[in-house]
Amino acid sequence: MIDATHDPALTSWVDVPDGHDFPVQNLPLGIFSGGDAPRGGMAIGERIVDLAALSAAGLIDVAPALVAGPTLNALLADTAARRRLRVQVSALLADPAHRTAVEPHLVAAGDVTLHLPAAIGDYTDFYVGIHHATAIGRLFRPDQPLLPNYKYVPIGYHGRASTVRPSGMPVVRPAGQRKAPADAEPTVGPSRRLDYELEMGVWIGAGNDLGRPIPIAAAADHIAGLSLLNDWSARDLQAWEYVPLGPFLAKSFLTTVSSWIVTAEALAPFRIAQAPRPDGDPQPLPYLLDAADQAAGAFAIRLTVDLTTAAMRAASTAPVRLATSAARHMYWTAAQMVTHHASNGCALNPGDLLGTGTLSGPDLGSCGSLIELSAGGTNPVALPNGETRTFLDDGDEVTLRGTAHAPGFVGIGFGECRGLVVAML
Ligand code: CA
Repeated sequence: MIDATHDPALTSWVDVPDGHDFPVQNLPLGIFSGGDAPRGGMAIGERIVDLAALSAAGLIDVAPALVAGPTLNALLADTAARRRLRVQVSALLADPAHRTAVEPHLVAAGDVTLHLPAAIGDYTDFYVGIHHATAIGRLFRPDQPLLPNYKYVPIGYHGRASTVRPSGMPVVRPAGQRKAPADAEPTVGPSRRLDYELEMGVWIGAGNDLGRPIPIAAAADHIAGLSLLNDWSARDLQAWEYVPLGPFLAKSFLTTVSSWIVTAEALAPFRIAQAPRPDGDPQPLPYLLDAADQAAGAFAIRLTVDLTTAAMRAASTAPVRLATSAARHMYWTAAQMVTHHASNGCALNPGDLLGTGTLSGPDLGSCGSLIELSAGGTNPVALPNGETRTFLDDGDEVTLRGTAHAPGFVGIGFGECRGLVVAML
């Protein structure tokens, strides 16, 4: 799993600022366009390698069909080609002997538009952040925050694939039915309790046939990579509509992902053991339990949430950090999410997207949503400039970031997952 592409001594002839999300050890996959057709690219520093051009020039042994189109689904599906591409592009960018041939196929990241990396056929959002599930559950059920199924079933719901967008797309405040407990009847109008959710996205690589589950020992081979994900949530709509079938219009208006897929290969050095379950918790049922997954199925990824309000932008004030959390707060691994999803025979397809659920930590500084930070809207969050927030105002911009770290390796990041809240059109 660890090879020359992860060597911390590896450098590139492309200038990469220290601490940048995209050193030569990362090479995330995306789709970009710059006045012409969208096509595949890999990010390094502030440049993007045009994979379609490299393929056309014969500089990589990857078929143009996998990288030259407007989506990367075919490349995600072909694990061997994806791994070969990483090794070959790494060598091209590391060895100055290739500079003359490759440099014409680099574009400046600032000159292009980033698109979704894949056509997302299906999007499923899980609920594996146990601190978030406990905190939300406590708001509704102080005596029993976690329902009994939580420690047996990776809970999820089917989200809406057609409204997933890449970082930077505006967040149009949704309208809908709102009914506070004290109200006699619901009213219809713009959400008054718009929130974000700090999550990671899991991109499916190779799929499975309908009727054929994915064994837990094979699940990691179906994961192409990860990105950041913001599951924007209208809490007032959600509280009224969610019984008995779960989230619907409170979530389906928009989901934002960071534009780059940080591949499973790039993340190999940052795998860590799944945290041991607390004493008294049941072991996962056998179909979800695999020694290798327990030993290395979690990820050492630090996650942050930053907020900029309109007033802060007007005053050129730096963003305020609302949370610092980590991917290790997942009660279930990404592989367990995949295996459980396919355990009834459900077919997962290349480019399908799984959200982890909100990845809060155990304390106030690691809350991955405002409903947790503001205790259900009862305890306003004080911002340094004197403003307060219980939920998001129009003009608020939320940016998620993530960085994978491991001793002895160069850290890699995910780019930003950003959205600016605007009033309904
Ligand atoms: Ca969610």
